[in-house]
Amino acid sequence: MKKYLIALIVFLTAVLLFVMMVFFLVLNGTITKETFGINARGTDAPAAVTAEPEPAETPPPSKVVVLDPGHGKSSGQMSDEEKTSGGWLYSAARGGWGEWRHWKTGTTWADCEGSGCSGRAPSGGSCWYPIGNGDRDVEPDINLNNTLSAQKYLEELGYEVRLTRTSNDENPSMTERLRYCYPNGDTSASPDADAFVCIHSNAGGGRGSCYISLSGLYDQGGISDTYVNDGNTLGKYINDRIVSDTSMGSFGNGSYDGFPTTILFCKSPVTIAYLEIGFFDNQADLSILQSESDLIGKAIADGINDYFTAIDGTAAESV
Ligand SMILES: [Zn+2]
Repeated sequence: MKKYLIALIVFLTAVLLFVMMVFFLVLNGTITKETFGINARGTDAPAAVTAEPEPAETPPPSKVVVLDPGHGKSSGQMSDEEKTSGGWLYSAARGGWGEWRHWKTGTTWADCEGSGCSGRAPSGGSCWYPIGNGDRDVEPDINLNNTLSAQKYLEELGYEVRLTRTSNDENPSMTERLRYCYPNGDTSASPDADAFVCIHSNAGGGRGSCYISLSGLYDQGGISDTYVNDGNTLGKYINDRIVSDTSMGSFGNGSYDGFPTTILFCKSPVTIAYLEIGFFDNQADLSILQSESDLIGKAIADGINDYFTAIDGTAAESV
């Protein structure tokens, strides 16, 4: 009997040690359900692989459009400090404040200072553009209203919009406005704007809307071989929308050849269009400009979007 009792104690001790060992291994993670081919669902199917989250599709970078409401505060009302901070230069030899029309050939941000450039200027003009030539009375406000409306619609379409001025109490030089073509205005970087759009209104006898066409030689650094054609294509898309979607008619066939020498054409590092929307000195056009600014802005935005859709198909759906 005693033998049996000892055998039982030995057996129970062995069982206890085995149970303690298993318990330890489970605690240690050495033995898991998988050890026995059992998964959480209690079948021997391979354990379900946790689904990797789908990588979020990278949205295409939004196009950057610089909108330039033409003109601004009259030069006679600007202090010297305002002129300086607006990028205007003072030259006693040239009669006062102004800016250079060109960069040195093949460069950007190196003013020609009268030589080493294409020399293109309107008839009778020179490389120097006097600040007073840009003074207007009612045009700055018309341009700003159309621009703010275009900004709203472009942003709805997903574009990044930069404005060269946001009030009628400022008047940056043309050169200064081109800084918005660059990331954070850093002109030592590559320009990141996809287009620069000048928004103006015309005067001097006539009616309707047009874009000023580029032609001839532009010799600033970095521009595309298709700079002239790209700019004219963009201008035409915008003007076509203004003519079709607002009460504003077309001035001539919509393409105006009179000022291919404009400073912004000669200095812009990116595709540029220059709109002359209606004649603000014509009462009928003026009343359209005043009553349809929202529609005009939408037409500008849709025309810009038409252009990008046509050239690479990545633009937003029209709203
Ligand atoms: Zn020059």
